[in-house]
Amino acid sequence: MAVARQFQGPIDLHAHSSVSDGTETPAELVRAAAVAGLGTIALTDHDSTAGWAEASVAARAERVTLIPGMEFSTRVQYASVHLLAYLFDPADPALLAEMTRVRAARLTRAEQMVVRIGADYDLSWDDVLAQTTPGATVGRPHIADALVARGHALNRSAAFADILHWKAGYFQPHYAPDPLRAIELVRAAGGVPVIAHPATRGIGDVVEESRLKTLVEAGLFGLELEHRENMPEPTARLYELAAKFGLFVTGSSDYHGTGKPNRLGENTTAPEVLERLIIEGRGSEPVYG
Ligand code: AMP
Ligand code: FE
Ligand code: FE
Ligand code: ZN
Repeated sequence: MAVARQFQGPIDLHAHSSVSDGTETPAELVRAAAVAGLGTIALTDHDSTAGWAEASVAARAERVTLIPGMEFSTRVQYASVHLLAYLFDPADPALLAEMTRVRAARLTRAEQMVVRIGADYDLSWDDVLAQTTPGATVGRPHIADALVARGHALNRSAAFADILHWKAGYFQPHYAPDPLRAIELVRAAGGVPVIAHPATRGIGDVVEESRLKTLVEAGLFGLELEHRENMPEPTARLYELAAKFGLFVTGSSDYHGTGKPNRLGENTTAPEVLERLIIEGRGSEPVYG
């Protein structure tokens, strides 16, 4: 009874593999999801779908449902806003062009940050490359890993709190589209957009009521309100706005393997919300393992 099995077990709609800044390969991630007792896992690497094929094979082997997704980088002035996108067409030309542009900008930006850090610390671009898999979406976590390997930080979190913190003076933003355009691109590619961790420090202004209304009108599906980095007060306010605008609420771990303390299944999404998400997703199919 494949249908009855589809949504058995907890649903975690946000996890990263080594295709971006997770520490496990897509197959290892899906295996970890099975071991953690999850029924459904979404693979949401930053600005890339390169892990979908491998994760799909693993999902069938591990009998886990896979929702193919991505965490799309968007930006409003200096605020970085992450947009989770599910079940879109990975070959959609307009979306693909924007993803490619963001990944290229991330690479240039990381190289420039490493040049600046390298003036004060023993660190080279080769050190960073040694921490990435070929073709991976490069981010500060890879610079963090290189700093750890060089003995300049104890772990990723320590590197983020110190050398990679914007206050340290090495931080640099990278190009990313406006959230409104990103939502339009995702919907046009048949996908379903959800704002990731919308109640974290620094993005409060971005999700105030009038802007959120514009994003809803452009096709925003939901808000990831159950996430360890959301702060209580803005989360409560966004629950009210979600109800007002008819947005769905999701919960997820944002698992990065050993790269972050977040554990698979620490927050979950209701089966009714996943059902609705699958109805609206028209660009690709879930993999029912
Ligand atoms: P970037 O997009 O390159 O600026 O890097 C931000 C990414 O770093 C986020 O998507 C997180 O996955 C990761 N990150 C942020 N803070 C931490 C932390 N304290 N420890 C580990 N990873 C982090
Ligand atoms: Fe990440
Ligand atoms: Fe994020
Ligand atoms: Zn994430």
